[in-house]
Amino acid sequence: MRERPPHLTGPAIPDVPTGTLLRLAPGEWSHCHAVPAGSRLDVTVSRVHRNVVRRDEAGLWVWVVGHEHPACGWAHVERHPPCRQLMVRVDVLARAVAS
Ligand SMILES: [Zn+2]
Repeated sequence: MRERPPHLTGPAIPDVPTGTLLRLAPGEWSHCHAVPAGSRLDVTVSRVHRNVVRRDEAGLWVWVVGHEHPACGWAHVERHPPCRQLMVRVDVLARAVAS
């Protein structure tokens, strides 16, 4: 069963496997304080918080935690907890899972 808040009628939030690479254009992500708004942002997904969603005129957004790509994957970087937290548009997640 998908977790899905009953008041939402938009697209279902896709299952995003850990390690999925999101290549985010400006406007496809928000609320990542470590990165200037309007930048491109590549993130490797650790977890999608499917139960924390928000809707605005751009669509449905969900919180994602993960790592910066490719910097966090470099061999000399020690394993560490997810260092990026941001909101990503649900249709962008669906696109990433489908590709
Ligand atoms: Zn990281």
